[in-house]
Amino acid sequence: MLQSTTPSRFRDRISGPLIKILRLYVALFTSLVMGLTLLAAYLYQTSQLEYVREKVLMRLVAEITNQSGELNALATSPLLWTGLTDSQGREVYLAPLLERFNRGALRQFYVLDYRGRIFIAPESRSAAVATAIATDPVVATAVLESRDGYGLRATAKGELQVMLIQRIQNPNAESASGFIVGVIDLPTLLGGLGVDSEAQISFALGDQLLMPVPEGRWMFASEGRAVAATGDLEVPVRVHVERSMVASAVFTIGGLLVALLLGAWMIQRVKSWAQRFAMATTQRLDRLLLECQKILAGERLQALANSGPKDELSQVTEALNAMLVQQRKFTDDLRATSLVFSTAAEGILITDPEGRVVRANDALLSMTGYTLEALVGQRAGTLYRSDQGEQLRRAMSLALQEKGRWSGEATFIHRDKRLIPSHMAVSRILDDEGEVRGNVTVITDISRLKKIEHQLRDLANQDALTGLPNFRYMTEQVQHRLVQAQAESKRLAIVFLDLDNFKQVNDEHGHDAGDTVVKALASHLSGHLPPGHLLCRRSGDEFIAVVERTASDDNELGRQLHRLLPLEVQTEAGPLTVTATIGVSRFPEDATDWHELQICADVAMNEAKHEKRGTLGWYGAAIGRRLQRRRQIHSRLREALRTEAFEVHYQPELNLRDGRVVGFEALARWHDPELGDISPAEFVPLAEEARVIEALTLCIADKVLRDKPLLQARFPGAVIAFNASPQVFRRSRLLEFLSERSVHDDSVLEGLEIELTESEVSRIDPSLQLQVQALVGMGVRLVIDDFGTGYSSLSRLTHFPISRIKIDRSFVRGLERPREERIARLIVDLAKVMGFEITAEGVETPEQRDRLLAMGCSRGQGWLFARAMPVSELVGQEQPIQFPTSTDLITTP
Ligand code: C2E
Ligand code: CA
Ligand code: CA
Repeated sequence: MLQSTTPSRFRDRISGPLIKILRLYVALFTSLVMGLTLLAAYLYQTSQLEYVREKVLMRLVAEITNQSGELNALATSPLLWTGLTDSQGREVYLAPLLERFNRGALRQFYVLDYRGRIFIAPESRSAAVATAIATDPVVATAVLESRDGYGLRATAKGELQVMLIQRIQNPNAESASGFIVGVIDLPTLLGGLGVDSEAQISFALGDQLLMPVPEGRWMFASEGRAVAATGDLEVPVRVHVERSMVASAVFTIGGLLVALLLGAWMIQRVKSWAQRFAMATTQRLDRLLLECQKILAGERLQALANSGPKDELSQVTEALNAMLVQQRKFTDDLRATSLVFSTAAEGILITDPEGRVVRANDALLSMTGYTLEALVGQRAGTLYRSDQGEQLRRAMSLALQEKGRWSGEATFIHRDKRLIPSHMAVSRILDDEGEVRGNVTVITDISRLKKIEHQLRDLANQDALTGLPNFRYMTEQVQHRLVQAQAESKRLAIVFLDLDNFKQVNDEHGHDAGDTVVKALASHLSGHLPPGHLLCRRSGDEFIAVVERTASDDNELGRQLHRLLPLEVQTEAGPLTVTATIGVSRFPEDATDWHELQICADVAMNEAKHEKRGTLGWYGAAIGRRLQRRRQIHSRLREALRTEAFEVHYQPELNLRDGRVVGFEALARWHDPELGDISPAEFVPLAEEARVIEALTLCIADKVLRDKPLLQARFPGAVIAFNASPQVFRRSRLLEFLSERSVHDDSVLEGLEIELTESEVSRIDPSLQLQVQALVGMGVRLVIDDFGTGYSSLSRLTHFPISRIKIDRSFVRGLERPREERIARLIVDLAKVMGFEITAEGVETPEQRDRLLAMGCSRGQGWLFARAMPVSELVGQEQPIQFPTSTDLITTP
């Protein structure tokens, strides 16, 4: 969990380096200022020194040059010569002359006699001073050597003086007649220059040492040289200027201190500025962080404020908001899912990747009797079992691996070991990386369905009246028997037996007598047919048997069958003699297909009946005529399709209560000029065989789509059903046809229904199943035809999006019998359990209609109401067609 603190490390990371850089910058800048200060101080000092030095030097050289000019002028003055040699001259000539020259305080002139004694001195100077000058070693040496000279001397007070010595040469004498000494007072000279007192100035003339000698350290120094030109002599002059560093150091240090203080102040400013800058930069980030923390803490789940400028941060906020929206949706979904989980009527079981239970919902717990604690951690596989055992597990894991889901039937084991028939739909849970996180299994208790299914199966396999296998079951058995016979080259006979005048028995002696007859005949046949036979009651008064033909001579079998009848039966109404007509076909001579074998036997029986009731007929040459017809039909099919000889008639379907038309079933009709009317029961199987059923269906569908608007305009809300056999899905042309037709107008398929028989649907393979689903997706409704005859597993039907089922005609016909009644009732119950609509087919009597209404079936079609009619008859009528309703119906049409 994040800390809800404001000083963020991110801010420190911004301000830290910023402060560091700025501090370095300020330090460098301060150092630079300090360095420059030092440099400036140094340069100032040295230039100042040089200036002073140069000024002093120039002044000195100029002074020496001037004085030496004056000395020269004096020395060559005849007055001087005269004055030196004249005893009165000193007072008369020289004193005034010298006084004229000595007027300034800066320089003085002394005149010495040829021996170097003071001859005349400035009045302002004492005799002692004059004597000191005259006796100065420089002066003395010049006098002694009788030449010009120069030199520096220090007075008793330590003040420096420049001395220039000029020989006074009398042109008339060889030796010097005297000397003039010019003295320049250096302090006076310097005073006139205004040189500050801090500067210490030393001088030297010629190769003399500097005077006074500089002392001390920490001094700036500068030295300059120049040569003063005098008459005959050149006087090299040196000036050395010094100044103590202390004063400028004080000044410099002051400057440095100021710079330092300034630097420190700037660093302080920079630091707080950098912090403020970092704060301004990270403030929005901090706010964002705070909001995120609130969301994390579960305070709220709403969009983050995004009011700042459009920058990266606002983009981040936007992105976070988008994530929030997603998260919210996800949460909502999750909430919905968990609601579904907890309130679902189906049991839901969630397992981990190892197949161990992690969660189960309340529905599952109440269904299985377990507590959640008892279930969690258990292997889900141990909770159910299946008739297929290992095979199921393998199929399930394969399907899960390949498609990620599996569904099918299994038996869940209740906590008290009771078995719960269930439908299970298992789906893989995959994470984003496609890793298996476990499975979710939806378990539907189908006990009730199973119960109905079992009852139906029992009823469906057995003929309740006679206890014989019923026709469907028989068909299954015969199929095996045929395959076996084929493999073992055995020969069989198919015996079709039809009671003579059975209707008359019923009518004259009552149904009970009829039933007794049927039962008696059934047990008689079971007892007397050759051993190993298969026998069933095909319908009310029809029996069919399959027996092995062992003898090479079929006449023997014929005689055996002949001996079966007549039969004396004791009934409540007295003894009755029962006869029957028998037709026989042979496997494999007449046909090898069960359906064809039946037709052959049926044909043989009919032929025999035609001749004389109570006889036996073999399927023979005469019967070939039938086949001939089949062949003719077969050969005309294509032509009929080409010429569109097929018509469609519509049989109304009604609400049994009020006689309102609720729909129509489209039935194909074919009238051939030579063969006459051909029933679809005849030509549809042939069309299937000839593989033109697809074209036929498209032809019918086309006409249905054309007639549909007419019918629906006349009968608002009526649905129109057409029949299809599964072959039409082989090449998906029907799907293409219907989707093409509905491309521009969805309403084309509105109220269109497609009828598939139950047995056909249960045989449809998964790829065809997809097409059926696609059709339903387009709005076509699926109707299961002939329900109850082609018994199939109900769970197979649950895969289909069925809208309606039609109770087969055979059950409606036998409604007055308890068995058929029960079957019809079970089918109605089943439709209710599964949520299907239900229609009864072949309603021929008001009793049938009333019984259907009583058991909850409110839709029906049948000759009681109407036969199939051309569309022109249905829509052309001026008056709306009135069908008999439950109250006013009295006659059968
Ligand atoms: P189905 O789909 O079960 O059609 C109902 C059959 O029962 C029709 O016979 C109809 O005339 C007949 N019927 C209607 N009401 C009654 C009644 O009250 N009592 C009796 N005894 N019969 C009644 P139909 O027209 O001879 O058709 C026979 C079968 O041919 C149909 O049985 C259907 O499976 C097939 N068929 C008809 N038209 C087409 C078609 O266009 N395409 C395909 N594939 N099959 C068709
Ligand atoms: Ca039908
Ligand atoms: Ca039907």
